[in-house]
Amino acid sequence: MESELGFKFDWSSKKVLIVEDDTFSVEYLIEVLSETNVQTIVTKNGLEAVEIVKNTPDLSLILMDIQLPGLSGDKATERIREFNKTIPIIAQTAHAMSNDRERYLKAGCNDYLAKPILITDLFLKLKKYI
Ligand code: MN
Repeated sequence: MESELGFKFDWSSKKVLIVEDDTFSVEYLIEVLSETNVQTIVTKNGLEAVEIVKNTPDLSLILMDIQLPGLSGDKATERIREFNKTIPIIAQTAHAMSNDRERYLKAGCNDYLAKPILITDLFLKLKKYI
């Protein structure tokens, strides 16, 4: 899959945590990101995401779905921020209303991507924070 940016990123030294409960969305993200050779860790669970961040000191960035069963993405972000203030967290959400955005940023997300996530948006957002 070729991005529309006209060049390729090499993020082979970077590690991204994908927190997403929808299998199709996970497969899509992994396929798109494979072009960059970035390392990926996947979880469908907010609580597990918190544990992975605790146990993965070399993590570069988190793509955080908001709508998750159990612990929601914004709550998981709040918990992560209790012990890690610096890791970039990008919310991925179908609910890109301005009120929601404010809530995600307040929870500690650095930025957000609106679903369906466009490849170019994803790469440019990652480039900014990774
Ligand atoms: Mn979801």
